[in-house]
Amino acid sequence: MNHLSRTTISITALLSLIVGGFLIQFSMADEPNTLPESIDETVSECASACGLPSHVDLGGDRFPVLRSDAEWQERLTDIQYEVARKQGTERPFANPYNDNKETGLYRCVGCDTPLFSSTTKFDSGTGWPSFFTPIDKRTIGETRDVSYGMTRVEVHCAVCGSHQGHVFSDGPEPTGLRYCINSASLNFEAAESADAIKKLVEVWYSEAK
Ligand SMILES: [Zn+2]
Repeated sequence: MNHLSRTTISITALLSLIVGGFLIQFSMADEPNTLPESIDETVSECASACGLPSHVDLGGDRFPVLRSDAEWQERLTDIQYEVARKQGTERPFANPYNDNKETGLYRCVGCDTPLFSSTTKFDSGTGWPSFFTPIDKRTIGETRDVSYGMTRVEVHCAVCGSHQGHVFSDGPEPTGLRYCINSASLNFEAAESADAIKKLVEVWYSEAK
């Protein structure tokens, strides 16, 4: 009996090792740890390779684009002002870009910086426009948000400080990130193709103000 038990334990242990080994190999192969080279290359290649426009210095301790409260209120609608400048959140589903499947560029409502592309937009089912990556990580700032008893990562435009939404780590491949963004923080500009979006992005990067 003892001998039989030991044999059973040994076989079980051996099987566990074999199965475990396969599982480790399998999970390693599926690990979304690096971005494939093809990711949104068309739209992002200039953004990552180009220098920022001359009016955008992200190295300082102030946002490059500053406006008075009166200027913000004049530029923005009530809901845009509430969300972008007062850290508000618009209602899910009842916002213009959640269902938008058109090809094009999403610019910051506060300063026109190109932040997101339709080529990285996906249907998250949350009721807010969702993207798996911004066009250029340099233009998206992050802060820790502990409001409402939750710890979340708030994201904002690094050029003018306008609140955009939050980023979560439950997004789809290839980044595993979900940028959950308010429509009220964005202005959509339609484009004919990914290449046309890229050209719009390049124009912003080559601007000298
Ligand atoms: Zn902005």
